[in-house]
Amino acid sequence: MTAKKPSETEEEYFAREEAVRRHALAVEKARQLEQQKLAEIKALHWMKCPKCGFDLEPVKFHQLTIDKCFHCNGSWLDAGELEALAGGDGSQTLLQKIVSVFKRA
Ligand SMILES: [Zn+2]
Repeated sequence: MTAKKPSETEEEYFAREEAVRRHALAVEKARQLEQQKLAEIKALHWMKCPKCGFDLEPVKFHQLTIDKCFHCNGSWLDAGELEALAGGDGSQTLLQKIVSVFKRA
């Protein structure tokens, strides 16, 4: 509990307490708005190509699901999928197979 200064009136004390309470509410509202904004951005961009904005389509290939843009021919990987391609025996062969499937004519 905050100690009151001798010169402080009760009205000043409650006004300051109210300002602190309102500031906390404003900070919480800003946090909620930020989360809402992030949710709106995610909904707007979900499964859209980051390069051209066209729809991404999931394409299953072996154990991986590649998000493919058939407009600009971009291919996108989820978290961990690049590591799955890069590591382990035979992964280079798998990567070469994926490249050959989507190679431009
Ligand atoms: Zn694209």
